[in-house]
Amino acid sequence: MTIALHGMGVSRGIAIGKVHVVKRDQLDIREYSIKRNRLDDEVKRFENALTNARQQLRAIREHIPASTSVDIEAFIDTHLLMLDDVALTKEPMRLIKELCCNAEWALKLQRDALVAVFDEMDDAYLRTRKDDVDYVVNRIQRLLLNQTPLKHEKSDQRLTGYIVMANDLTPADTVLMQHHGIAAFATELGGPTSHTAILARSLGIPAIVGLQNALRYIKDDEEIILDGSRGIILVDPERHELLHYQRLQKEEKRYFSKLGKLKNKPAITLDEVNVALYANIELPKDFETVVEVGAVGVGLYRTEFLYMNRETPPDEEEHYTTYKGVIDVLKGLPLTIRTLDLGADKQVDGGRQSGPVTTNPALGLRAIRLCLKEPALFRPQLRAIIRASVHGPVRILVPMLSNVHEMQQVLQMISDIKMELDELNIPYDHNLQIGGMIEVPAAAVCADIFARQLDFLSIGTNDLIQYTMAIDRVNDEVNYLYDPLNPAVIRLIHTTIKAGKKENIPVAMCGEMAGETKYTRLLLGLGLREFSVHPATLLEVKQIIIDSNVSELQTLANKALKASNGIEVANIMRETTA
Ligand code: PEP
Ligand code: MG
Repeated sequence: MTIALHGMGVSRGIAIGKVHVVKRDQLDIREYSIKRNRLDDEVKRFENALTNARQQLRAIREHIPASTSVDIEAFIDTHLLMLDDVALTKEPMRLIKELCCNAEWALKLQRDALVAVFDEMDDAYLRTRKDDVDYVVNRIQRLLLNQTPLKHEKSDQRLTGYIVMANDLTPADTVLMQHHGIAAFATELGGPTSHTAILARSLGIPAIVGLQNALRYIKDDEEIILDGSRGIILVDPERHELLHYQRLQKEEKRYFSKLGKLKNKPAITLDEVNVALYANIELPKDFETVVEVGAVGVGLYRTEFLYMNRETPPDEEEHYTTYKGVIDVLKGLPLTIRTLDLGADKQVDGGRQSGPVTTNPALGLRAIRLCLKEPALFRPQLRAIIRASVHGPVRILVPMLSNVHEMQQVLQMISDIKMELDELNIPYDHNLQIGGMIEVPAAAVCADIFARQLDFLSIGTNDLIQYTMAIDRVNDEVNYLYDPLNPAVIRLIHTTIKAGKKENIPVAMCGEMAGETKYTRLLLGLGLREFSVHPATLLEVKQIIIDSNVSELQTLANKALKASNGIEVANIMRETTA
């Protein structure tokens, strides 16, 4: 009999295949004492395990195919660095000697101590570091216990076509599994904004999270169906269910290959309104996909990746070389470089703030606030962008503006840098456009003021919704309030678009809302003409634009602006006058 399990679908797609269960948490670590004269041998045993763990990780790194779109190497390098960190090397050795205990036990004590420190910190970045500690510790423990590495952790094992089930997976697991060719994965823990979920979406692997207790009902090698759009797993499906999902899978494939044909088609509505579809990009490796999906340019280049997995921030030359490389790949397509948006949920070593972790980091010193306070961090980036602008069309996008004073300070800094460059005869684009992100309600309400002094605006709905609804966007407990259709949100979006129109400057949207097809019609009706979305969803958005009639949608959107809640807004937008 079929068992249906329900979780949260975080990456769409249907997979049908055998299960591979990953059980990482079930190592039986016991304490036993070691005689004083054997302590050196025990330390040696631990050192050997460290050496083997390093060798395993290096072997995995060597087998990563060049075509992989995500920076797997960076994940593996982080773990390799941890294998050299005194906290995981010298400290367990000290404990072995001091407590006369076995290496597994010493490592467990050290792991518990490290995790306890992370647990006390209310910091999303450090929480992900806790997962990394567990990942590395687990690998060493398996070696100490002479257990074979998990299948997906080996460089020479393939899991092609398998659906991976686990209690939880780290982002590192996810990327390694993609390398092994898995069909899909599901976890008992996790939420839609976890790193693992985001990675699954960007890798295009169907995935479900939050399937509580699923491992009680699923065994290795059992056949299951995973529907990542609906968040459903069918264990031991009946024949008719298999046939139904096989048909859906085929339809999905056909749909995506049909979408591929839209690549070179312009995004024009039935009533001939032109829409510009830009791409959002994070890693330099993703830039090729911009050209592949036929985006008209990059509407949001998040530059935080430049600061990851390192101790010091990049200098001007490194910024410049990176941007120049990206401009070359884009071959004349415009590139919108967002200046540093660190702080809150985006903490990285190379730009880490000093001082205590604040209670409300999202309301604290982040993005442009941090940049203005620390010009040594900001100036090299600005100068590099301006210098790079000589190589191709570049725009500067400033995140999280909340008052005009901040904007004026940035404009002043840019003008000072240009003067410096002029004096040194260093060339740059004198028409370089400067835009601001509208992601704080205060800026949306006063969008007209920003529109008068900037060249373009871009609505960052991820933050705009968070701040409008007063919820932390990474807090699962208040996620239910995260509603892009809330009347307050759509009115702020409308106000911003109107302000841009009045001042005759373009207004784009680069938050996730722009790439979710269920909102495309509403956004068109509200007057949005520039969308910046993840390349993976660009063609789907284009299809909806091509099938839309803007004059009809304007009528519906005007009605939606008077609705009293998000459900009403959704119902209105489902109406059609045709
Ligand atoms: C946003 O807030 O909508 C946005 C695009 O920026 P980020 O998600 O990087 O904060
Ligand atoms: Mg933002």
